[in-house]
Amino acid sequence: MSIDFKLGVVGDPVEHSLSPKIHNQFAEQFGHKIDYQKYHISEQEFESFVYDFFNSGGRGLNVTLPHKHSAATIVDELTEQARLTGSVNTISRDNTGRLIGDTTDGKGLVIDLLQKGVDVQGKTVLVIGAGGAAASIIYALLQAGANLKLFNRTESKAKALVKTYSDFGNIALLEPAMSYEILISSVTELDKKLFSQVTQPLMSGTLVYDLNYGQRAESLKVLSHEAGCTNFIDGIGMLIGQAAQSYKIWTGCFPDVSKVML
Ligand code: NAP
Repeated sequence: MSIDFKLGVVGDPVEHSLSPKIHNQFAEQFGHKIDYQKYHISEQEFESFVYDFFNSGGRGLNVTLPHKHSAATIVDELTEQARLTGSVNTISRDNTGRLIGDTTDGKGLVIDLLQKGVDVQGKTVLVIGAGGAAASIIYALLQAGANLKLFNRTESKAKALVKTYSDFGNIALLEPAMSYEILISSVTELDKKLFSQVTQPLMSGTLVYDLNYGQRAESLKVLSHEAGCTNFIDGIGMLIGQAAQSYKIWTGCFPDVSKVML
C-alpha cells in the first residue's frame, strides 16, 4: 500500500504518546494513508535521526520532551513563535527541502477554547507558570486579543516572559487582588499554597483551564471546586488542537477536532 504522508513523533520516552491515535483519526477524515510512528530517540541520536527521517521521505515530525529545545537549533528556519519560545514541537519540510520549526501548543489551546465557546478577545486571563508551555500559550493568547497577567513560583522567569512578549500585546505580572476572567495553569504541579496565592479574586464564574489532563489535572480540579468554581477544563482538547495545527502544516488540511475519540 502506498503512503501519502510519512509522519511521526520523536521523544525520550515516547511510548505514552497519544499522537498516533489522534493523527490516524485525522487521516481517516480526509481519506489520507499515513504512516505515523513513535520514535524513541536519545539526545545524542536526535539530530541525525531528524535528518535521516526527512531524507528518507518524511513529511512531518512532532517533537516532544526532551528534544523541543534541540529541535529549535537544528532546523533551517523558525516561525516567529518558535523563535520567541526557543522551542519546536512540529518540524516540516518546505518545497526547497529546508526544515521549518514551529510550535503549535499555543494555537492548540486557542483552538480548544474556541471549540468550547470561549473567545479570549478582550478578556483578562491569568497564566500561571513560566516554562516552555507558558511561553507558547502566551504568544497565541496575545495574538487572540487576551489581556494577560502572569504568575510563577519563580518570579524572575515570569518577569522575563513579560519583557519578551510586551511588544506583542497587553501583558503584565499579576498584582495582589487583581481580578481575571480565566485562569490557565501551565505548571507541572500546582499545590494548595500556590493556588491560594492567585485565587483571592476567584469568582464562581471564573473558567479554570489546566494544561495537564487526566489524573494529572485532578488536583487543580478539586482545588477549583473547593474554591467554589465549577467551570473547569483539562488540557486534552489542547493536545488534540495542537495536533490538528501540525496536521494542517504538513498536509494543508485542517481536521474536525470534535470528532476525535481518545
Ligand atoms: P517546564 O518548562 O518544565 O515548566 C514547568 C513550570 O511548572 C514552571 O513554571 C515551574 O515553575 C512550574 N512548577 C514545577 N513544579 C512546581 C511546583 N512544585 N510548584 C509550583 N510550580 C511548579 O514545563 P512545560 O513544558 O512548560 O510544561 C508544563 C505542563 O504543561 C506539563 O505538565 C506539560 O505536560 C503540560 N503541557 C500540556 C500540553 C497539552 O497539549 N495539553 C502541551 C504542553 C505542555 P518554576 O519556574 O518556579 O520552576
